[in-house]
Parts: sequence; C-alpha cells; structure tokens
Amino acid sequence: MEYNITVLRGDGIGPEVIDQAVLVLNTLGARQGITFNFREEMMGGCAIDAYGEPLPLSTLETCKKSDAVLLGAVGGPKWEGLPGDKTPEAGLLGIRSGLGLYANLRPAIIYDELKEASPLKNSVIKDNIDILVVRELTGGIYFGDRGRLNRGTNTEEAYDTEKYSVAEIERIARLAFKAAYGRRGIVTSVDKANVLESSKLWREVVIRVSKEYPEIRLKHLYVDNASMQLIRDPHQFDVIVTSNLFGDILSDEASMITGSIGMLPSASVGGGTLGLYEPIHGSAPDIAGQDIANPIATILSAAMMLRYSFNQNAAAELVESAVKKVLAKGYRTKDISSEGFKTVGTKEMGKLIASEIKAV
Ligand code: NAD
Repeated sequence: MEYNITVLRGDGIGPEVIDQAVLVLNTLGARQGITFNFREEMMGGCAIDAYGEPLPLSTLETCKKSDAVLLGAVGGPKWEGLPGDKTPEAGLLGIRSGLGLYANLRPAIIYDELKEASPLKNSVIKDNIDILVVRELTGGIYFGDRGRLNRGTNTEEAYDTEKYSVAEIERIARLAFKAAYGRRGIVTSVDKANVLESSKLWREVVIRVSKEYPEIRLKHLYVDNASMQLIRDPHQFDVIVTSNLFGDILSDEASMITGSIGMLPSASVGGGTLGLYEPIHGSAPDIAGQDIANPIATILSAAMMLRYSFNQNAAAELVESAVKKVLAKGYRTKDISSEGFKTVGTKEMGKLIASEIKAV
C-alpha cells in the first residue's frame, strides 16, 4: 500500500507537532508494510512570507492531487492585522472549500487516564466519554446572504441568512449515520426545529435519510437542550450531527469537557476519500520553539486520516492504542501533566508513541 500525503506544517508549534505525527506514521508504515510519501507545501503565515498569500495555488493543486492532507496550525501575531482575505486563517477557509470538504468530524474523548483534566466532576464522568461531532461545514448561516441596511443611520439593521438545501442535509446526514456504524450506533441530530424553518427541513430530511440505516438509532434535540445535556450527561451522546453554526459552538463545548486542547484531533472530509486532518488547537505562539507542545492531537489526526481517507482501521487503532499506553505509563506533556506524572517534551512524546507501535 502506498499513500501520498501533502504536509502543511504551518506556523508556531505546527512544524513541531507535525514532525512527531510524521515520525509515528513512518514507524507504523515500516511495521505494517505501508509506504507514506510526504510532500511539504506552505500554507498560512509561512506562505504569506514566502509567496505573499496564505494559500498559494500550487499548494492547493498539490493537495488536490494527494490522498490526504495533514496540517499543523497556522497564524500568529506576526500576521495579525492583515486584510481579511490575506490572513493565515483565510488560507484555512480557502483550503476547505477548495477541496470540497463539507463535513467536519471532531471526536471528543475523555480517556480514563486523563479524567482529572476534565472540568466536569468525576461523578458526571463515570466511564470513558467518546463523542463524535459531525458538523456541516460549507453551508448554513456562514455562507448565506448577509448585509447591512441603512448604514450609519439610527435605523441601521444587519442580517445573516441560514439556508440549507435537501442535498446538503442528505449528504451530511448520510456521513453521520455511516460514522455511527462501528461505534455505539446512536445519532443525535441537533436543530432548532421548534422555531427555524431551515431546522424543520433539517429534521424532515434527517428522518428520511435515517430509514436507509435501520440499525442506527436516531434521536433529536433542540440546540439549547443539547448544550445543557452535554454538560449534564455526556455519556448519552455517540454521534452528533448538526449545522455549521450549531456545530461550531457544540464542538467547542464538547472539546472543553475533555479539558485538554492538545489532545483533540479533527478531520474535514467531502464526497470522496480526500480529507484534511489537523489538531483543533492553533499555532500556540506562546509556546512555539520550546519543545513543550503536546503532539498527541496531531498524532490522533493522523490516525483519523488512516481511518477515513485510507480505510486502514486496524492501523488507526494501533496508533490510538499506542497513545493510550503511553498515557497509562504516566507520561504527559506539560499541558496535561501534574504531580506524580513523568513530564516529557514534544519530541520525547512522539518517540514514546512510536516505540509503542514498534513494540506491538
Ligand atoms: P491556540 O490553540 O493556539 O492556543 C490556546 C492555548 O492553548 C495557548 O495557551 C497554547 O499554548 C495552548 N495550546 C494550544 N495547543 C497546544 C498544544 N498542542 N500543546 C500544549 N498547549 C497548547 O489558540 P490561540 O492562542 O487563540 O491562537 C493562536 C494562533 O493560532 C492565532 O493566530 C489563531 O488565529 C491561530 N489558530 C489557528 C488555528 C488553525 O490553524 N486551525 C486554530 C485556532 C487558532
């Protein structure tokens, strides 16, 4: 097996955490007979410095031709204050839409070993929590008609429009139902169908699509209730599927209950197998270059790549279990460490995870 991966190391801690994910993939490849061909391209602040734009056309073209894209993080104080379409973050929006990635998958997992990092009480987190938030990424209010009326007068108004087509809802719903196989088999669709017309359509379509997946149980929650339930009893959730706006908010909430931003991966996927995999954290300029960033979010993003783009589920599980083993042995990077644990740097953490893969 051979896969071509475009690597966008990005800015700040991006290159540091990417290096460890590449090490883990190479170790895994040697063990499982898989060849990963990595090709580096620039995106974000580094691309602005080199080419004057955050997402050079050549970067996008290389990404389109590859089997998957692995991204570190972009941005930093150096590039703050640039015009909207020239910011490092504009590169992120550009690459997601340029690659047609309409779904964002964000697992929120509390490992037994990291329960103490969660802001929730131990009585709430009885067992492992494993939630997958499936957020629609290219439709809804972020892309709808918007504007300002009567600008500068005392009758000034502003509006944004939430709009979804049946086709947009169908494809994200199908993705969520498929993702529920091999998990606990529950999909919770989150909307505001008691008020919003777009949510009423959302619910109708999700119910219709659910008939194609009879083994999966479908539940519905209004978004206000869902945000409460996530804190009150997170165990009830398996897969959450929701719109762009609600997903933006709920995926942040779900990730906060795990308490450790350096641990959380994400995937953006579309109709085909090409996907973009990145940690949910940013470029963390405050700790860049110090060998203290947690590389686990990026390593787990690489595991998601194995699962969703390459269909290498066993290999993905191997990486995930190597991470768990290292945590169980008491190793922690600074962000998740406390008394009694062995604090290690970014490189050491990468090496430890790679060694667990070698040892299997
Ligand atoms: P951030 O996620 O970079 O950092 C928030 C806090 O978490 C910081 O204290 C940081 O040190 C810590 N942190 C983040 N990742 C960590 C890791 N792997 N290990 C240990 N600690 C970690 O968010 P921010 O400070 O709001 O943003 C910094 C820059 O990153 C900004 O320019 C922002 O626009 C950009 N950003 C990029 C992305 C992305 O590339 N997808 C996402 C969010 C923010």
